Amino acid sequence: MSWRDNRTHWEGWARSVDPAIRLVDKESSPLMRAYARLPWLGDEFLTRTASVIGARIYLTRGGDAEHDIAHEGRHVRQKRWCSLGLSPWLGWPVFAVLCVFVLPAGLTARFWFEMDAEAFALKQKVRTGSSVAWARYSLVEFAELLCGGDYVWAWWPRRWAKKIAGLWKF
Ligand SMILES: [Zn+2]
Repeated sequence: MSWRDNRTHWEGWARSVDPAIRLVDKESSPLMRAYARLPWLGDEFLTRTASVIGARIYLTRGGDAEHDIAHEGRHVRQKRWCSLGLSPWLGWPVFAVLCVFVLPAGLTARFWFEMDAEAFALKQKVRTGSSVAWARYSLVEFAELLCGGDYVWAWWPRRWAKKIAGLWKF
């Protein structure tokens, strides 16, 4: 079942993550369709991964809406923090700078933004019945992914990343 069949429910829940969030059907978004023409993206970009721009979350039809709204929604929340609570759109430039900002040790702040977003999504899963052990295992797997080529700006030593993930509080 696609999130669009239960749109009111998901929109209500997304607003509880951050009131500025708007949900958009990724496949029918002209902007996302234009992005998908980039040679390194393609159709998979439209059908397999959710995206977020400012406070707009672009959801795929076949994706896990609960996870995707929580993860991308948390990024919207993080952008709001970057504006000291005013608006995710205002905080977005600060957030973007922090994402690529390289800390003295050569580590990026994006690592924390991503870990916080994924842990937030996994906590939601625990609330709806998944086990804490599963959530912790999933976060360790995510940390591993974060240190690979899919997240070029989140480079952290894999061993540290997995250790931090294993210690995360659920
Ligand atoms: Zn993310």
